[in-house]
Parts: sequence; C-alpha cells; structure tokens
Amino acid sequence: MDTNISRTSARDAQSPVFEFPDIVVVGSINADLVTRVPKHPEPGETVIATGSLYAGGGKGANQAVAASLLGARVSFVGAVGRDARADVALVGLREAGVDISRVTVVEGETGLAVVAVDATGENEIIVIPGANARVTPADVAAAKERVEYTPIVLTQGELSVEVIDQVARLTEGRFVFNAAPALDVSEETLAKADPLVVNEREARVLASRLLGSDMSHKSAHALTGYLAPDYVRSVVITEGARGCTFKVGDEDPSTLGQDYRVIEENVVDTTGAGDMFVAALCVALGRSSEMGEACDFANSAAAQTVVHAGAQSSYFLAKRVNEASG
Ligand code: ATP
Repeated sequence: MDTNISRTSARDAQSPVFEFPDIVVVGSINADLVTRVPKHPEPGETVIATGSLYAGGGKGANQAVAASLLGARVSFVGAVGRDARADVALVGLREAGVDISRVTVVEGETGLAVVAVDATGENEIIVIPGANARVTPADVAAAKERVEYTPIVLTQGELSVEVIDQVARLTEGRFVFNAAPALDVSEETLAKADPLVVNEREARVLASRLLGSDMSHKSAHALTGYLAPDYVRSVVITEGARGCTFKVGDEDPSTLGQDYRVIEENVVDTTGAGDMFVAALCVALGRSSEMGEACDFANSAAAQTVVHAGAQSSYFLAKRVNEASG
C-alpha cells in the first residue's frame, strides 16, 4: 500500500491527496553570509554590522529545505565546489532530510551570497555563483528519471538558461518555475510553467521583455493578465506584506494574503520569505490543492518566516514554534 496517499473528508472522496508529495528541485546552493546592519551603505560608505550568521542558502537549497520541513519528499539536483564552504552550504539540506545524492562536487568554489539586512528587515544581496554556474544540461540529463517522473519539478533563475530550459523540456509532471532572477529563458520554458512564480519586480522585467514595452508601472493585478494565459499557464506574483496575486489561464486574477500581514515593527528579516512561499506553494499543489488554496497556504507559511532571522534558519525556527504550539 502506498502510505503517501490519504483521503480527507473536506475533499472529493475520489481524489487522492498526497500528504507527502514528491518534489525534485533543480537549483542553486550557496553558503549565505548574513550581516545585520543599522542601514544599507551608500556607495563608498562603510557600515558596521551589529551581527552575522553563516548558513546554507541559495534559492534552490532554501526551497528544498522549506518543502522538506513542510512534509514533502524532496530530492535535489545541483552542485557544490570542492571547498570548506560546501559543508556550510549543505548542512540545512542534510538536517531537513533532503536527498542530496544528485548534488555533484565540481572543481572551484561553492556559491556564496553576501546578504545585508537593515533595521526594517529589508535585504540587499550579492551572489557569487561559483559551482552553480557549472551545473550543465548534462547534469540534468543524468538525473533524467527523477525530473521525468517526479510529480512536481521546481527550478529557479539562479542556474543557467540552458539548464533551466533543459529542466522544462524533460519535465513530464508539473513544472513550477520561480523566475528569480528573471533570466531570458525560452518561450517554450515559460509556456510550461504552471505556475510561474515571481515577485513584482521580476514580473515587470519579464512582462516588459515579452511584450516589448515598458511595464514598470503596472500593478501585479494587471501584470498577471499580460502573462497568463498568453505566455504561461498560470502565474503567481508575490507582493511582500500584501501577499500575492494569482491568475490561472483566462480566469480572473485574485489577490490573497492580507490576513497574514506582519506589521513592520514585528518584521525581523524577510530574507527567504519568497523561497518559503514557493516551497509551500509546491507542497500544496503536490497535495492536489487548487491554486487559491495553495497561495493561501504559501502566504501563511511565508509570513511565519519574517519574524525570524535568516532564510533556512527561519524555516527551522518556524517549524519549532509550530510544533511547540501544537
Ligand atoms: P525575498 O527575496 O525577501 O525572500 P521576495 O521579493 O522574493 O522575497 P516578497 O514578495 O517580498 O518576495 O515576499 C514573499 C512572500 O512572503 C509574500 O508573498 C508574503 O506571503 C510573505 N511576506 C513577505 N513580507 C511579509 C510580511 N511583512 N507579512 C506577511 N507576509 C509577508
């Protein structure tokens, strides 16, 4: 018997609900050096940090860790360098129980992100791709069975366009594409995204590029209409404390998330909130949720991370808080 399938009375009794959905993440792994600063430095200015944290990061790894902590069975395809930083980069994936047997070790350095978080919780990030830039379409082809047969395949914009296009090509299940950053991937890749997940900034960049005109002043609501259904099957645009706006095919867009808003005084660090959002969305979709339900779950999960420091560390803390409160 497949213990991954259960049924709930709240749903159609005929439709299986996957409590522990299988997700493969093809993505970036970094070590994150997170510094807390009273304010972000102006060009040429030096600012003294009030604290720091050295932990695993990278959008791919963050999303894999978050999805695993939310109950998914996650396997990861990516690369680290042959250096001491790799241990830091992998520690969260190991602790969360992510299958890292498809992580290759390449010559050179592991990816590094230098993050500065100011007193309001806003972050600025510099990424050194390192081994992430050396993941190739051949690495994805080597993990072909997983990419082909896993129900949810998730990737982000921190690998090369060729790798992302390869992931999309090989995916037979549901392809979730977090276009962060908004790389110039092929229109075939975008057409497979269900959903495309982007923040407002990324949505404007993508829409401006696709439509060949300036979309920088368009609202998230309007942007969803430019993107779906013409370029993607469905789209979710995250809007920070306001939650998100989503659109499926030619249905009307909806905005959700006001109920979970954490007021600015209580925000400690928004780093990784977007990654938790994407992970939770995948977990909910893997449990057969509708897009609206999945967005609600994602908003709720992401909101719980902004009251803790760091990305992966905030996920482990949020999980502990949830378990302690029953
Ligand atoms: P980051 O790069 O900081 O991880 P992002 O730019 O990718 O984030 P955002 O749109 O800023 O993504 O935030 C992602 C999600 O996090 C939002 O859709 C929302 O669900 C949640 N979130 C962010 N800030 C808050 C907040 N103050 N209160 C509640 N939820 C929040």
